[in-house]
Parts: sequence; C-alpha cells; structure tokens
Amino acid sequence: EEKNAGQTEYLQAIHEFLPTIAPYLEKNPAIVESNVLEILLEPERIVQFRVPWQDDKGDWKVNRGFRIQYNSALGPYKGGLRLHPTVTESVLKFLAFEQIFKNSLTGLPIGGGKGGSDFDPKGKSDPEIMRFCQSFMTELQKYIGPDVDVPAGDIGVGGREIGYLFGQYKRLNGHHSGVLTGKPLSYWGSLARTEATGYGLVYYVKHLLNDQNDSFEGKKVVVSGSGNVAIYAIQKAQELGATAITCSDSSGYVYDPDGIDLTLLKEVKEVKRERLSAYAAERPNATYFEGKSVWSYSDAYDIALPCATQNEISAEYAEVLVKSGAKIVAEGANMPSTLDAVAIFEKNGVVYCPGKAANAGGVAVSALEMAQNSQRLPWTFEKVDSELDAIMKRIYEACRDTAKDYATEGDLLSGANIAGFAKVAEAMISQGLV
Ligand code: NDP
Repeated sequence: EEKNAGQTEYLQAIHEFLPTIAPYLEKNPAIVESNVLEILLEPERIVQFRVPWQDDKGDWKVNRGFRIQYNSALGPYKGGLRLHPTVTESVLKFLAFEQIFKNSLTGLPIGGGKGGSDFDPKGKSDPEIMRFCQSFMTELQKYIGPDVDVPAGDIGVGGREIGYLFGQYKRLNGHHSGVLTGKPLSYWGSLARTEATGYGLVYYVKHLLNDQNDSFEGKKVVVSGSGNVAIYAIQKAQELGATAITCSDSSGYVYDPDGIDLTLLKEVKEVKRERLSAYAAERPNATYFEGKSVWSYSDAYDIALPCATQNEISAEYAEVLVKSGAKIVAEGANMPSTLDAVAIFEKNGVVYCPGKAANAGGVAVSALEMAQNSQRLPWTFEKVDSELDAIMKRIYEACRDTAKDYATEGDLLSGANIAGFAKVAEAMISQGLV
C-alpha cells in the first residue's frame, strides 16, 4: 500500500486479485513460504521517458511515455500500448498486472507488460500522429525486441499507429517483423487479429452458454464502446443470432432497437472518425443519448458486454444492470467493473466473466502472429479463427474447473486468478525467483 500510495487503479487491481487466490495459497503452503507473491507484486522494470513532438503549426509539445515490463516468467513481455489522456503509471501498472495472468491463461509463451502515453490522439492530424509515434518509438526501441518485449495496440492504438511505430523501429534497427503485433496485413500482420478480442469475448460467453444448454440465439446484448473490441464483439454476437442494441463512446450512447448496423458503425468510427451522434442521424429508429452512460439503460436485456474502459460500471450502474434482468456480464475491456459492482453481480447471481479471461483472445492471436512471423508463413483466417475459438474454450474451462477445484464453484473470477497465478508462480520458483 505505502509503496504504491496514490496509485488507485493499481491498488484496485491488487485488491481484487489477492483475496481470490487465498484458497490456492492455503492448499499450497510451499508457495507462501517461497515469498513468490511479494516478489511478483514488484514489476521487473518500469521505463519512463520524454516524448517531444511537433504539431502542424510547428509548435513543440511534450508527453510522457511508459513501458511496464512486469513479469517475464512465461516469455517475452507482451501487452498493448495505450494512447489516452488518462494514462498514468498507475493505470499502466494495473493493466500490466492483469496482463500477466491473462497471458498465462492463454497457454502461450508470453510474459506480461503494458505501455503507452498520456498523448490524446483525438483531433490530431495524421502527420501529427505520425510524428508522435516516431518520437515515442525512438526511445521505446531501446527496450523492446522480438524475444524481449513485443508491444501491440490498445485504446488509441490501431493499425495506423502500429504502422508508424513499426516504420520507425525498422529505420533505427533494420527490418524486424516480430517486434510489434497487430501489424497491417500487407506486412506481417495476422488475419483475424483485428477481430480477435471481440470475437474471443463472444466465444468465451458461447462456451459458458453451451454449459447451460443455451446459446446467443434471440438474446438481447448491451455493449459499451465503439472501438476495436466493441465492433467485433457486436459482429460476432449478431452472427450467432443475438441483437446488440447499444454502443457508446465518451460523449454518449446509441440505442438501436433494430440491432447495431455494423457497416454504418465502422464507417462512422473507422473511416470518418466521427462521434456516434453521426450514427444515430443515419438510422430511423435509433436514439442518441448525449452525455449518458450506456449502463443507465434500464429496459430488459440478457447479456452485458462492457468494451470501453476501466471502471465504467459503478455500483449504481451495476444495480440498474441487475434490475434489467441481465444474467451474464463479460468484460471486453480491462477492469470495466468496479469492485463494488462485482460484489453486486455476485450477490444477485449474475455470472461475471472477468476481462483477464474473457478478453484474452486479442493477446492470444497476437502470440499466433508472433508464431507466423517466426515461421515466415501467414495462416488463413479460418485457421486463426478456429485456434482462437479453441483457446477461448480452454480458458473458459480452466476458469470453471479451477473454481470447482478450490471450492468456489461458479466463481469464474477466482478460477481465472488462481489458474493464471499458479502457472506464473511455479515458473518463477523453478527459475530461482527471477
Ligand atoms: P479503442 O480505442 O478502439 O476504443 C475504445 C472505446 O471506448 C471507444 O469507443 C472510446 O470512445 C471508448 N472510451 C475510451 N475511454 C472512455 C471513457 N473514459 N469513457 C467512455 N468511453 C470511453 O480501444 P479498444 O477497443 O482496443 O479497447 C477497449 C478496451 O478493451 C480497453 O479497456 C482495452 O484495454 C481492452 N482490450 C483491448 C484489446 C485489443 O485487442 N484492442 C485486448 C484486450 C483488452 P471514444 O471514441 O469517445 O474515445
């Protein structure tokens, strides 16, 4: 607590995590004696650097860049880069911490990391984005590499930004395909990486529903966000027979009773880079709620997929969600539910699928992109997509079965945390706690 004073998001992630692994620690005293937990709670390395860049008027600006290399027990650090004005060391430490266990759950050889900057990409021109990315990578390239640390995208970092970052890395180091993932398809990108987090989220819920002899068919789904994760979660849920009736951005949310029109949404967000009000203006039955959170939506629905950002579902919104009859909350975003919200879900029998398991599809396909880059062979969309579905099934089953093994049946959060932690702890001990 004292060492991390003021780092609220990071402490929140730790507070969520620690009580859930208690049943595992009780059964494994050797783990407690080894002190691996205390060591694990200290990031291996944090890099912070200055990012100066020039705007279109020729004025110089400066932002703060970070890379948190949290844990390399299972492989090279792996985790996205976030560009958003809310980025702080605390936010990135919480994300890197979650990433360790998420990556462990994928079963693929990747450690945990995260990075980014408090740079705000909104309203910046394309050349400004390029100059920022080039300056950011000029410093970051000293600390990363295909076998060391392999960043990817996150909020504010999509194909365009990865392209500029990759170009700068290549200029400074010579060509290396495997230094970033989420690359465009024309050079070393993986098919299905763009779709992976959203699709993976829906696959996770599909396997949960299968267990209940149920499916997405006919379900009403409330989705937040309208970025990379939200768009492909909506697409896959609709493909499986559900109706996604909402999406949102930081200015408000759209309710579309006919189901979100994905072509229009992509046009607005990915091509025109406009606000969601532009979506509602084109759809006769859709309503735009300016300045409102999507979690204030209170009519009946079945499944909630928060896909925007951390702490978007407060206790108050969790109560609204429970009253609307939703039975499943599956997190596409990282830590979108506050601790109080999770307690309300648990109390009311809402099945809670934590982000570190449910949104692991993105990083899993990033690891498959690394495999393709090493092989120098691209895989087909179908191959990557079916691997993704199989990985999400394994992750769901690991959460379910681990929860059962530790007498917390049905508690997918404990299942995810214990299954993710056990592998990392064992690897650290076997490597001499390094
Ligand atoms: P994008 O930048 O593509 O989209 C983010 C979306 O969330 C946008 O619609 C954005 O609205 C909205 N949003 C962001 N911040 C806020 C805020 N403070 N309040 C309300 N809405 C907000 O990011 P991604 O879709 O990639 O990421 C979304 C979440 O998923 C994040 O938590 C990320 O860490 C997580 N995630 C992403 C993965 C990936 O592969 N991309 C993998 C695993 C997790 P606006 O346009 O107004 O900013």
